[in-house]
Amino acid sequence: MAAQTMEQLVSLCKRRGFIFPGSAVYGGLQGTYDYGPLGVELKNNLKLAWWRANVWEREDMEGIDAAILMNKLTWRYSGHEETFVDPMVDCKSCKMRWRADQLSGKCPHCASTELTEPRPFNLMFKTQIGPVPDPESFSYLRPETAQGIFVNFKHVLDSTSRKLPFGIAQIGKAFRNEITPRNFIFRVREFEQMEIEFFVRPGEDEGWHKKWVEDRINWWLSVGLSRQNLEPYHQKPDELAHYAKATVDLLYRFPHGLEELEGIANRTDYDLGSHSKDQGSLGLKARVSPNAHSTDKLTYFDPETKQHVVPFVIEPSAGVDRGVLAVLSEAYAEEQVKPAPADRLKPVEEALGTFLKSVGRNEKLPAQAKEALLAEGERIAQALGERMPSIAGLLSMPGAESIEVAKKLRGQVDPVVDEFYRTVLHFKPHLAPIKVAVLPLKKNHPEIVSTAKSIRRKLQSTGAMRIVYDDTGAIGKLYRRQDEIGTPFCITVDFDTLGDGTDAALKNTVTVRHRDSMAQERVAISELETYLREKMQSGA
Ligand code: ATP
Repeated sequence: MAAQTMEQLVSLCKRRGFIFPGSAVYGGLQGTYDYGPLGVELKNNLKLAWWRANVWEREDMEGIDAAILMNKLTWRYSGHEETFVDPMVDCKSCKMRWRADQLSGKCPHCASTELTEPRPFNLMFKTQIGPVPDPESFSYLRPETAQGIFVNFKHVLDSTSRKLPFGIAQIGKAFRNEITPRNFIFRVREFEQMEIEFFVRPGEDEGWHKKWVEDRINWWLSVGLSRQNLEPYHQKPDELAHYAKATVDLLYRFPHGLEELEGIANRTDYDLGSHSKDQGSLGLKARVSPNAHSTDKLTYFDPETKQHVVPFVIEPSAGVDRGVLAVLSEAYAEEQVKPAPADRLKPVEEALGTFLKSVGRNEKLPAQAKEALLAEGERIAQALGERMPSIAGLLSMPGAESIEVAKKLRGQVDPVVDEFYRTVLHFKPHLAPIKVAVLPLKKNHPEIVSTAKSIRRKLQSTGAMRIVYDDTGAIGKLYRRQDEIGTPFCITVDFDTLGDGTDAALKNTVTVRHRDSMAQERVAISELETYLREKMQSGA
């Protein structure tokens, strides 16, 4: 099971500290999000998994970390100044702005059909460089990490003596002044990319393009996405970017629909060619603008043919934030631990009905918020027994807090959800923000507590994983809490561990409880480190 709605994810992410709306105390800043304590761990783990697979485990890759600010000429010759535009329209009635290609003829805010003609809007953020506001002293925040790789092609080649084919990988921030940022972290104005520029001999590009598409699908599967939610889409000739000969988008079934997660483009010799001097002498296949400023030829000397060639480039370009969203969405599940009896469901059903009626009657709610609340409320009501945990998401949607009976609904729902349901993030262990939670059965028993703390310290000292100690509730509640943040293993220290239980053979053993199956087994403290490492590697 995956997340059904974005609300489920937004609510969990905020509640448990994965992702917060940016600058919230000042009313927010549209299109920005901040990663909280668990979000930063998840995001770092995803980036590390990518780096490991694409840099450490390959023989043909180097990494770099280029500056976000680049000489503005980069963006002239990359084609971004001229072509990195989206068509924008204004609603003449409510003055909202929209991307013309995402509208169906009417304003999504006020439904007016009075829209201006589309006009191009450049998505790059312009910024002043240096203290003097001279009209020429500007550049842009990079809208993609790729150009930092192209301008360093020669440096990497010369410093590593690489032979074709080889690639350069980079992870870093990119900025786009999106006209309508939306769908949580799917479309934002500041985000991260994981990009590879893979340089090959002209003529070998099509074979490598195919290989990379397969490779990238397999990698997304290795971080937990399921094949039926991933779809390669071959762009049609009229959809291709100006630099591309062919592009395959990997689409993912996000809660809001099937949309791009990664693009894998055959960029030909466009980029290295367009950033080179003396282009006439290079025999370029791509059409580039004449470059009057470059100081170098970005070519490769082929020792076999004794000729200088401009390599073709295959670019797998993935969004980190979209990756985090896909992984979260795929991992999310609301599960019934035991069936809730009818007399416990009834009051929740009534409170939900009253809440939805009150939303329907409310005249102050903006139309969009009202529609969204009613749609999500009805989705839950249709199968309340299964979907009850989604009420937490419903209550955190815009406008919900202004409904008077929201508090009453929350009061009815929380105890039932606590007793009969669990929300689980079924992350692959290597992505889980916290790998192990060590829990004392009793927090006021000094020996249990000190044993639990020493297990935590010992496991932590291996440096291999993030581990927490938690004694802030009863064991059942602590398990639920760890399930909800995707911790694959809980270790419980009890009386048996101390040798004070009924079975003396259990001395110096602990209970290891598995997140997905909820199964429990007894493991010797001395075996814990090896046991966890093995489980982590096998993905169990
Ligand atoms: P879209 O068509 O969705 O705007 P794009 O085709 O412009 O995306 P690319 O230029 O191919 O995107 O960028 C590569 C990757 O960077 C995308 O597949 C996506 O994962 C990520 N990305 C691009 N724009 C954004 C954004 N505004 N917010 C988050 N991630 C983004």
